[in-house]
Amino acid sequence: MVSDGRITRFSQMPISVYIAEPPAPERLQHAYIGDAEYALEQWSGCSEGQLEFEQVDSEDADIRIYWTDKSLSGEADPLGEASLVRFDSGKFYVKMSILLQERPSLRSSAHRQVRAVLLHELGHAIGLWGHSRDRNDIMCRSSAMQPTRRDKNTLLKLLATPSDSPFYESAIAELKSDISRSPDAAHLYFWLGTVYADKGEDDLAIKELLTALKLSPNLLKAANRLGQIFQKEGMYGKAIAYYSREAKLEPSPGLYGIIGLLYLRQEKYNEAIDFFGKALKMDGDFSAARTDSLAAYHLWASQCIKDDKVDEAISVLSRALKQFPSSRVIYYDMGTAYDVSGQYEKAMEQYKKALEIEPSFVAAKRDIANCMNSLGAEQMRRKNWERAIELCEQALQWDQDFWEARKNLESATFGLGREEHESGLLDEAIPHYMDVLDMNPNNLDAHSSLGFALYEKGVYKNSLARFQAALDIDPDFHDAEVGLATVKRRININRAKTAILLTAISMIICISIMFLSRYRHRRRISVGGENIPKRS
Ligand SMILES: [Zn+2]
Repeated sequence: MVSDGRITRFSQMPISVYIAEPPAPERLQHAYIGDAEYALEQWSGCSEGQLEFEQVDSEDADIRIYWTDKSLSGEADPLGEASLVRFDSGKFYVKMSILLQERPSLRSSAHRQVRAVLLHELGHAIGLWGHSRDRNDIMCRSSAMQPTRRDKNTLLKLLATPSDSPFYESAIAELKSDISRSPDAAHLYFWLGTVYADKGEDDLAIKELLTALKLSPNLLKAANRLGQIFQKEGMYGKAIAYYSREAKLEPSPGLYGIIGLLYLRQEKYNEAIDFFGKALKMDGDFSAARTDSLAAYHLWASQCIKDDKVDEAISVLSRALKQFPSSRVIYYDMGTAYDVSGQYEKAMEQYKKALEIEPSFVAAKRDIANCMNSLGAEQMRRKNWERAIELCEQALQWDQDFWEARKNLESATFGLGREEHESGLLDEAIPHYMDVLDMNPNNLDAHSSLGFALYEKGVYKNSLARFQAALDIDPDFHDAEVGLATVKRRININRAKTAILLTAISMIICISIMFLSRYRHRRRISVGGENIPKRS
């Protein structure tokens, strides 16, 4: 139930859970994600409402579930692994790796196995760090599909105990009894060492961790824990001298890896990478050395970027790519180096390479959006509105929740409308103002500019409506007040003009009628005179 001899469980609810995309064809992915969701439901279901999980899209979650088709370290559970990663602040997250052994399929037997592994590893993740001895229990790596009554009771007991409560003595007793049953199990010595280390008994911790490393020279976790103890006591030089002597007598990938780690802990990246390289030369499948070597490159480059030494970062990363040509992290870091130095096009090229390696790499997508948006902002400053619009739209295609790009798109569209308006291109300007209002119905400037454009086109009624809309949002909006008054004045002048025109027309008609009728009258008189018949 303990990790490092302490109760270690998430006490804030809900616990955020990230489930990575399974390495399977799209039509099968949901089945594996469903397995993970099944395991989450089972544990929350037996927690009497105390455990709540929330699935999130970000990898920055409390529990991170990854899938792999490469074999795991196999120290305890060969099909799955849950490891606790503690930050210096005391916060932690749990990384779960689930092995997908066979070709991905929908066969229910395959999924039963995956579910059993998920249930077991998730049990660790929620704080059940020990193993049960009863073969029926999930926490004994059984094939059970539901937590047993004993699993449930252990969970409830765990949840009733405050996080960080020490359980050193019982943990030590348990582990010693396990060791007496399996004296060759390196991971048991490792666990015992970590309990001693947490308890502050460094000498005992060092002894157990060294035993673990003797039994399993590639158990870098143990070397890492030793490194922490050495760091605390400022014993790096001593430790490196010790391991180098051992490595000279009997070179092994594990020893080289340990020396690499000790250098890494001192931030001596070049030396660290050298030793990881030696380890990998002896054993190409030494995955921990590979991971740590990548970590060294990553930390080295990040440090350079932080110190404003972008060129140095790029040369470190180029070296890394020669060794790890398919590492998404290195491409991503390379992108970051270009990004911070304002070389957005080059940055995007690198982010895209990272995405080719892992298409669901959210951070890379977000950063491409960011670069696009920065380029868009640059074009806006130069008043290249159309190009700016294009770039902001592309940014939103990479990250549709990108608020800043949305805001920039709105401003650039307004800028374009304004420019057309000022050049007298009313028919072009009006649709752009309307686009702006589609994006943001509360954009006062767009309401008012549209009002003026419509006014200039002579569409007074619609123009009035726009100024009114602006004033409904902000009754003190000066431009709209001016606009409204201008249109009303224009309407009144027009009305007066119309009235004058109508009067003039009716006067003309009256006069014409008068003339006409007088003319006719006279004609009739004269015509009548001629025609009077003569009487005889
Ligand atoms: Zn386990």
